[in-house]
Amino acid sequence: MVQEIASKVSAGGRVSAAEALELYRRAPTHLLGRLADGIRARKHPERIVTYIIDRNVNYTNVCVARCNFCAFYRTVGSAEGYVLGFEEIFRKIDETIAVGGNQLLLQGGHNPDLPIAWYEDLFRAVKSRYPSFKLHALSPPEVLHISRINQIPVPEVIARLVAAGLDSIPGGGAEILVDRVRRLLNCYSKASADEWLDVMRQAHRAGLRTTATMMYGTVESDEERIEHMMRLRDLQDETGGFTAFITWSYQPEHTERGGTEATGVDYLRTLALARIALDNFDNLQASWVTQGGKVGQLSLAFGANDMGSVMIEENVVRAAGAAYCMDEVEIVVNVEDAGFTPKRRNMHYEILGDPIFRERDVPRMLALGKAREDGDTSLPEELRQYPARSRSGKQLRLAQ
Ligand code: SF4
Repeated sequence: MVQEIASKVSAGGRVSAAEALELYRRAPTHLLGRLADGIRARKHPERIVTYIIDRNVNYTNVCVARCNFCAFYRTVGSAEGYVLGFEEIFRKIDETIAVGGNQLLLQGGHNPDLPIAWYEDLFRAVKSRYPSFKLHALSPPEVLHISRINQIPVPEVIARLVAAGLDSIPGGGAEILVDRVRRLLNCYSKASADEWLDVMRQAHRAGLRTTATMMYGTVESDEERIEHMMRLRDLQDETGGFTAFITWSYQPEHTERGGTEATGVDYLRTLALARIALDNFDNLQASWVTQGGKVGQLSLAFGANDMGSVMIEENVVRAAGAAYCMDEVEIVVNVEDAGFTPKRRNMHYEILGDPIFRERDVPRMLALGKAREDGDTSLPEELRQYPARSRSGKQLRLAQ
C-alpha cells in the first residue's frame, strides 16, 4: 500500500486524506523525505533556497483570547501588558532597513483597547514615512477581533486596512483547523476553523496574498493534522491565494497547557507530508526558529525550499522557551552547506538578489531583539486619541 501511494506521488498524483494518513503512519522517514524532495525538485529545479529579511514585531501582548498553548499574552490590566508606540515601531523599521529588510511581520494580541482607527493610523504613518516598506500584518483571528469589536464585517475591515497600507496577511492563528482541537486549546472562540478560512478567502478575493501555518503537537490526532492540510488544500484550489505553508511544533514552556515538545523526526515527517499533501502550494518554509539551524538545514531535504525570515526580533516562541537565532550570514552558510543557492526574496517570493552582506556592509544581529525592555510600562502618547473599552484601559488613559 505504501509503495503504491509512493509511486503515485512520484508520478505527480494527488493523495487523498486516507493515503496521506497511510504514508504518515507507515512510510519510513527516508521515503517520506525522498518523496517530498522529489516534489520540491519538480517545483524548484534551480536549487535556489530563498529567505526574507523582515522583522517580527508584536505590537501588543494584551490579549482577551487566552489560548492555553500561548506563553506570550498578558491579560487586560496586567502590569506586564504593553502596546508599542508609533515611534518605537518606526525605530524598529529603521533597524530593519539598516540590515537590508523591507517588511514588518506585524502581529499581536487581541487588545480590546485598540480600535480599527489605531491600526489605520499606524499603517498610514508607516507608509507615509517609508513608502516602499511592506506590511505583512494581522493574522485572521486579529482581523476577526477587529471586526467584532468595531462591529464591521470582515470584508470591510480588510478593505479599510488595505486602503491604509496593509500589503498581505500572515497565516498565524491557524493552529489546527479542526474545531474539536480548537475547543481543547481554548482558541475556538477567537476563530473557528471555518472563520479562519473565511478571513483568508475574503483576503484572497480582495487581491491579497497570504501564508498558511500549522502548529502541531498538542492534542490533535494524526487524522486531524491531515484534515488541517486538506482544508488548506481545498481553499488553495478555490482561490490560489496562499504563497507558502509554514509548520512548527507546539512550544510548551511557560504555557498553561504544558506538556512536551514533538521530536525533530516528527517535525521532518510532518513537513515532508505537508509537501506531499499540499501539492498546490509552491513554497514550504523551514521552521528553524523552533527546530534549530541544523534541523532547519535538514528541512531542505524534506520538502522545504525557503528559510523564512532572518530573525531580528522574536517574542512569541521565545516566551515559550524556543528562541534559535540566525542572522543572514548564518542562514546563508546553512543553505550553502546543504548544497543550495541562497537568494533574498520578498513576500511574493520574487527574488530580490544575492545575500545583502555580500553587497554591502550590514550590522550583524547576533542577539534577538524583543518588543519591549523588561519593566518598561510606558503607554504610547497616541493611545490617548482613542477611547478605551476596558476598565483598566480607561483608568490608564485618565492617569496619563
Ligand atoms: S496565541 Fe495569540 S490570540 Fe492566543 S492568547 Fe496568544 S496572543 Fe492571544
